[in-house]
Amino acid sequence: MPHVIPPTVTRDDEFFWQGVAEDRLLLARCARCSNLQHPPSPMCPVCGSLEWTVQEASGRGTVHSWIVSRHPSLTDDGPRIVALVELEEGVRLVSNVQDVDPAQVKNDMDVEVVFREIDGVKLPQFRPVGAG
Ligand code: ZN
Repeated sequence: MPHVIPPTVTRDDEFFWQGVAEDRLLLARCARCSNLQHPPSPMCPVCGSLEWTVQEASGRGTVHSWIVSRHPSLTDDGPRIVALVELEEGVRLVSNVQDVDPAQVKNDMDVEVVFREIDGVKLPQFRPVGAG
């Protein structure tokens, strides 16, 4: 894995990173219209509300789309699978899929969250369901 740049935590996504620290995948839900929003934003794009509640995600989802990322000039330890994961709650997030050969990754593959520390930064990652 390459060097990981720690996230810049803001007021809007502080809850998300606190959740990651506790091995929990947390999502923002609008307190007015119940829209689930990821990534978190200050204002609900559906109704304009500034009030949010937090919901814990199941951690299960499917691979919506993915690529194998290779650094253009530096040698990586191995290929990195960068994926857009659609959570079963209906929102998508960009992450990595681990514990799988890139040749085995396909769209709609069932994945589950796993929290891994990479370069001293704890991140939500995904692996095929049953890989653990
Ligand atoms: Zn709303």
